[in-house]
Order: sequence, then C-alpha cells, then structure tokens
Amino acid sequence: MPFYFYNTFNKKLEEFKSLEENKVTIYSCGPTVYNVAHIGNFRSYIFSDVLRRSLLLADYQVEHVMNLTDIDDKTIKGACEKSENPCIEDLRSYTKPFIDAFFEDNKILGIDLVEHYPRATETIEPMVNLMNLLSEKGFAYKKEGSIYFSIEKFKNYGRLSGIDLNSVKTGLRYDTDEYDKDDIRDFVIWKGEEKTEKISWETPLCKGRPGWHLECSAMIRNIFGKTIDIHTGGVDLIFPHHENEIAQSEAAYGEKFVNYWIHCEHLLVDGKKMAKSAGNFYTLRDLLEKGYNADAIRYLLLSVHYRQKFNFTLDALKQATQTVHKIYNFYNRLTDVKTSNDEKSKNETIKPSAIEYEKYKNDFLDALKDDLNVSKALAVFHDAMRAANQILDEKNDALSSNEKETLLDLFDYFDKLLNILKNSRKITAGDTSAEMNDLLDKRNEARKNKNFAEADRLRDLICEKGYKILDSPEGSKLQKMN
Ligand SMILES: [Zn+2]
Repeated sequence: MPFYFYNTFNKKLEEFKSLEENKVTIYSCGPTVYNVAHIGNFRSYIFSDVLRRSLLLADYQVEHVMNLTDIDDKTIKGACEKSENPCIEDLRSYTKPFIDAFFEDNKILGIDLVEHYPRATETIEPMVNLMNLLSEKGFAYKKEGSIYFSIEKFKNYGRLSGIDLNSVKTGLRYDTDEYDKDDIRDFVIWKGEEKTEKISWETPLCKGRPGWHLECSAMIRNIFGKTIDIHTGGVDLIFPHHENEIAQSEAAYGEKFVNYWIHCEHLLVDGKKMAKSAGNFYTLRDLLEKGYNADAIRYLLLSVHYRQKFNFTLDALKQATQTVHKIYNFYNRLTDVKTSNDEKSKNETIKPSAIEYEKYKNDFLDALKDDLNVSKALAVFHDAMRAANQILDEKNDALSSNEKETLLDLFDYFDKLLNILKNSRKITAGDTSAEMNDLLDKRNEARKNKNFAEADRLRDLICEKGYKILDSPEGSKLQKMN
C-alpha cells in the first residue's frame, strides 16, 4: 500500500509518489527564535516528526530540513531592545538561548533530529542570488529603498491558499513579515536600510535585510537545488508565507517548487486560542515544572490527527500520563521476563503466531500510510499490548527466548514511531501505601485463581495510580513510577 496525504495545494487526498524512488525530500518551517516555543509549536513539530518516522518505517531514505528563522521583525526587535546599536553578532547572541532551548525541548519530547537546520544569518548569499534572479526576470521592483515582489506578474498567485484575487491591492505594499488574508499586497523581498532597525547587509540591489518569506525559498534551493517532495507547516503559514514562497521560487526558477503541501491544524487550550493574557499559555517547561511526564506530553500531542484542531487540556494530559504508565509497566514486564532455552520451550509455538506479529506491524504501518491515521495505529499498538500481557499472564512471566525476542522486536518496531518505550526504565523506587498493597494482594489472588480478566483490571488500576508491579519467583512488589 502506498502513502496517501491530504495535499493542501490540490485540496484532496492524493497518493504519494516521491520524485526519486525510495527517497523523500522534506522541508518543515521551523521556529522563529525570539522566544521559547510553546506547545502549539510543538504540536506542529511532533506532526512533522510523525511524518518523518512513518516514512522511515516504510524504508524511505529521508532528507529533511527545518529552518531556524533568526532574521525577522521579532528577532530584530528583540536584539534592538537589548543593545542600542546592535550588529549581526548581537542578533546571534540574542537568538542563541532560544535556539539552545529549541534543541533541548526537541530532545526532551523525543523528536528526531533532522538532517539540516539552516539559519537565515547563514543563508544570506543564496537569498541575495534569489533576489537578483527575481529582479532580472522582472518580478521584483525597488520602491522607497526596499525590494518588493510584484504579485500581479505571477499568474498562479493564490493557488495554494485559494484567496480571492479580487481583494489584491495592486501597487500597494507590505513591509511587515506577517499580514492578513483579506488585504493582499506586494510583499517585501529585501527590506531597505531605513526600515531595518540597524541590522543590515550590503547587496548590489539594496542595503537592508531579507524578508521572512525569502529565507525558506532560498534555503530550499540552496540545499536541494530542485523541486522537493513535501513541504510542511502549520495552517497559519498557508497565507501569506507559503503562498509567497511559491511565488518567489517558481517565478525565479521556472519549475514546480513543491509536490505535496501538508499542513497541521491549530492547537487550542481549554477550547480557546492559547494566549498569555487568557492564562492558558504553556511552554514545555511550564508543563514539566508542574510535574508532567514528557513522554505523556509527546503521546498526547501525537495522538490527535494532524488535520484536526487539537484541544489541549490538563485532564487529557493526566489521562495520557496514565496510558504512558501502563505502557512503561508493560514494557518493563516484558524486558524483565525470564527466558528458558530448553528443548520443550524451543518447540513451543509462539502465541500469537508469527503471522500475527507481521499483521500487527503491517496494520500499524498501513494506518500511518493512510494520511497518518495515528488513532488507528495506536489502536493496533494497544491491541498488541493487550495480547502480549495476556501471554505473560498465561505463562507466569516465563517465555522461551524466541518468544521474548519476537515480542521485543514487535514493540521496538512500534517504538520507532512512538519513541516512548525506550524510557520505560525511568522508574524510581518508592514507598507503597496500604491501599496499593491491598490492590496488589487482590491482583495476585485473581492471578492464582486464573481470573486473568480481573488480574488485568487490577494491574491497570495499579498502573494508573503510578505504580509498577515487579513479579518474581519470591513474590510481587510495587515500585513507584515517575
Ligand atoms: Zn517557511
């Protein structure tokens, strides 16, 4: 089965065909590094991580770029607030802590590193080349010291966002990097010196600094040199940012810019747009400080389909924490299993049979190929976890080494996407209350009576309360989990 993605450009689900066999090129718009990214940003980065990991799981070779916007209205404003007469080095030292925080947060959230992280301050030459080309071909003009893109010259303007071209204000211009859909004007390619708040670069056409939209177009050309397979970003970037990227790149190079545009929906908090003033604004650090587990945040953010609006609540995060505890508990149980290599167990058939293991893997990947249907993929994962727990119950946590390896291989496969199981060992020993010991006794009693359904129910309950059960021939005990 091939991958299917919803392509914003054609507004429909399409079969994915990469330009080169088994190879995918992806560009994801990354952070503007003037503050610490919030969980809405991370929803979008986790979406691109799920996309990347799904393609890798299907044996694609992936070359993935995420840019770091260190030149824009906001980073320059920030650098100017810190220094009266800032130079490029001041801009870099202003953005550095935010760039460091971005990489740290990515690591905490289990987001895979991509192959390239270009920065605008390091891509000046390709941007100047692109601007010159646009000027030579008549798409760019100079006015009041800045260089603008003439959108009436580019016939396909508006194709991606489906904007109403009647609202285009020909001859009017925007100097800001961001503006609204109902007020479409020529956009700035290179902002003239007098408008740049002191940080500028000398170029043959104009002294100043690049516009935000130019950065992505130039980086893509600089790294890939041709049409790319996939471009991702949040839905808020469709207009004007991505529309302007298409205009610049296709006008300059005369070939298709991107084959598949995939956009991730907004994240709301408690049903509302996240805002500091509304008191519903969270960074990853805010949530970790409140004691939430990073894997639970990852699990929650990846569990909702990318084209659905995501309503983030602390209750949902608490539920995700319970689920992650269950997952930790299961995986620890599996890795702790004692194996025997005697002749009898070697000949025993593995339950479920080897074919079913393959079926779990295939169903998991097929769900992801279906426009990244994570709900379906997670259902397959939880089904497999239930089946494996049942095997462990029936066999009293003793398996043949073959059985154990097959099970570990299956769950390691799931973890190539989830990236949660590997942290299962993050468990600390702690005191257990009388209530917990009581639950453990009841669970052991149920096991002894071969009432596995009841034993499972009690084990889940114990897990939800944040404890892990350690079974051994000497008996069972509890350990508190993070
Ligand atoms: Zn971009």
